[in-house]
Amino acid sequence: MRILLVEDELDLAGIIKQGLAEAGYAVDMAHDGEEGLYMAETYPVDAIILDIMLPIVDGIEVLKTLRKKGILTPVILLTARDALLDKIKGLDTGADDYLTKPFVFDELLARIRSLLRRKATVKEAVIRVADLEVDTASHQVKRGGKSVSLSAKEYALLEFLAYRKGSVVSRTDIVEHIYNEEVEMDSNVVDVYINYLRNKIDKDHRKKLIHTVRGAGYILKED
Ligand code: CA
Repeated sequence: MRILLVEDELDLAGIIKQGLAEAGYAVDMAHDGEEGLYMAETYPVDAIILDIMLPIVDGIEVLKTLRKKGILTPVILLTARDALLDKIKGLDTGADDYLTKPFVFDELLARIRSLLRRKATVKEAVIRVADLEVDTASHQVKRGGKSVSLSAKEYALLEFLAYRKGSVVSRTDIVEHIYNEEVEMDSNVVDVYINYLRNKIDKDHRKKLIHTVRGAGYILKED
């Protein structure tokens, strides 16, 4: 999943970006409201973490503009302590959630997962396809009850497929949601990672779960 982080405090932005990347998210960053608005309109991100106090255009204005344009990407606002009015204004403007600074990073991760679940057709924290289990909270993956060890990118790809289980996902979709703008759009990368995943998820099992749909992409499903 791909997340846009709009935060002008560079130290904090760097820490959040690193934490999100370690959790397997692709992260795009903007450091003022104008850049954030542009990126939110341009990139197919799955969620936006939006600071309220921003240079050029503040977070509330960014949010207002996005919603006015019909862009409904889930937004978590970052607010200063005691900024009750900001919280109210933010929620009324169409924010999905907010977090008061300073916050515990694990809480931000939990809130992101909750937003992504709300958007997905899958509502459970543990996504199941046949005997495959993808735990989106702990990032643990099991096949037939046995733990499968995946790299961060392999996990991100599997999670992306799992949230859309039963639906065909195109290579372009995968590239756009698993990688940020700094990565060259090369859909061969997807095939390489699909192969890694197949080796770890399907190879030792008679029932295959990752299927190629010729000319369309991939689908995770039972049969
Ligand atoms: Ca700020």
